[in-house]
Amino acid sequence: MRILIIEDEIALADALQQILQKNKYLTDACHDGVSGLDCAMTGIYDVIILDINLPKMNGFDVLRALRINRISTPVLLLTARDEISDKVAGLDIGADDYMTKPFNTEELLARIRSLGRRNAGVVCENILKFSDISLNLSTYELTCGDSSMKLGLKEFCIMELFLRSGSAIISKEQLIEKVWGYDSNAEYNNVEVYISFIRKKLLHIKSAVTVKTVRGVGYCLSCGR
Ligand code: CA
Repeated sequence: MRILIIEDEIALADALQQILQKNKYLTDACHDGVSGLDCAMTGIYDVIILDINLPKMNGFDVLRALRINRISTPVLLLTARDEISDKVAGLDIGADDYMTKPFNTEELLARIRSLGRRNAGVVCENILKFSDISLNLSTYELTCGDSSMKLGLKEFCIMELFLRSGSAIISKEQLIEKVWGYDSNAEYNNVEVYISFIRKKLLHIKSAVTVKTVRGVGYCLSCGR
């Protein structure tokens, strides 16, 4: 999952990124409302953590603009304000959840897991499934029958994206945006290398699932049987 943090307190934004990265989320951070909205409009994020008091454009206006433009990414408002009226206003404009600072890390992670599940396909207790394989979102293990393998961060993120998409085709551009990030210098070669790692691991755990190359388009999961 890729999470966008829009927070102008740099120290807090950095701390959030560290906490989330430690929990295997990919993150990007913006420190004002305008650049935050720009990033959020790409639609590549699974969850957006949004502060209300922001320079250039406040969080309410960012959220309003997102919803008007039909970006339905779940938004968690994170703010120092704890006035009931702010909470109501945020939820009315289309926020999905609300937390006041200072926040408890475990609670924040639980809320993010819950927001992430809203977009997911088949999720049961943090496990994504497709055909004979399952991916544990807590342990990052890919399992088929009795065999399991732990995935590296990028492999995990790619596999998670595949499993959340079912058998839909995912383009190399989508993989790069989602796994390497919008501004990254990652190239098609990087994607190919990681896809080959994943193919080896699927073989190793003796799964019938393969990553099929759809020439000129991208990749999709396919069940060989
Ligand atoms: Ca702020």
